[in-house]
Amino acid sequence: MRWRTGRRSDNVVDRRGQRPPRGRGVKLGGGVIIALVAAAFLGIDPTLVLSLFGGGGTGMSETRYDMPATLPPEQDEQAQFVSVVLADTEDTWGALFGDAGSRYQPPKLILFNDAVQSACGMAGAAVGPFYCPGDQQVYIDLGFFRELRSKYQAPGDFAQAYVLAHEVGHHVQNLTGIMGQVNRARGSVSEADANALSVLLELQADCYAGIWAHHAQRSRQILERGDIEEAMRAAAAVGDDTIQRRSTGHVVPDAFTHGSAEQRMGWFRRGLKSGNVGDCDTFQAASR
Ligand SMILES: [Zn+2]
Repeated sequence: MRWRTGRRSDNVVDRRGQRPPRGRGVKLGGGVIIALVAAAFLGIDPTLVLSLFGGGGTGMSETRYDMPATLPPEQDEQAQFVSVVLADTEDTWGALFGDAGSRYQPPKLILFNDAVQSACGMAGAAVGPFYCPGDQQVYIDLGFFRELRSKYQAPGDFAQAYVLAHEVGHHVQNLTGIMGQVNRARGSVSEADANALSVLLELQADCYAGIWAHHAQRSRQILERGDIEEAMRAAAAVGDDTIQRRSTGHVVPDAFTHGSAEQRMGWFRRGLKSGNVGDCDTFQAASR
């Protein structure tokens, strides 16, 4: 991706090297319900991971480390990179919302190491990048990109851009109200149906990532040879079937929460080709 001369976003908040205060997390077993839903990039149920990191509810607060930790130099380059990608999503969605007669409120992007406090609870890096609708923020531990390269075998800067654009896609869904509708609906149906709804939400976010790539390319010619293949590899690598096959050796479609490799690649490609937000109606497509 041609990004070095791109605009940097003002909406990146660098919390790397800080430790979140304890005791404000989601309490376990005390009858406190995890009410807010986060949309995670991976097929891990974020509420599970968030609860694992939930504080003990002691109300005790630990010393906060505001000193920046020593960060690997590659992360500074990556911080620049995500700032440019975020800025580009702001320009793209800003124009698309403007065309539709409304105003785009961009999300903040929180960079963290190891663990972070969000309005959706405490989250560890293991959850992968996620979006929290409660505070309208995208969270990422940049160490995930190393994992994307090695564990998921999806190297390349555009694989990373796709990840970020997918999370921004969730923010768009939050602004349009579809995320709230889906999360409410998920509460009153069977687990299999709730999973199916989650898949449709995730595939739409993939399609929105494609929409971003389409317009960014048209306006700013960001794509280099191999970029689209990098995004496709990443989409396939985080498909539920790919992840399930690797972790358990078999595939359980009812447990899909993000969609198969084929579906994820397909919806990203669809958004990329069309550039038309209306072509990302995964819910309509499923009801046909
Ligand atoms: Zn997602």
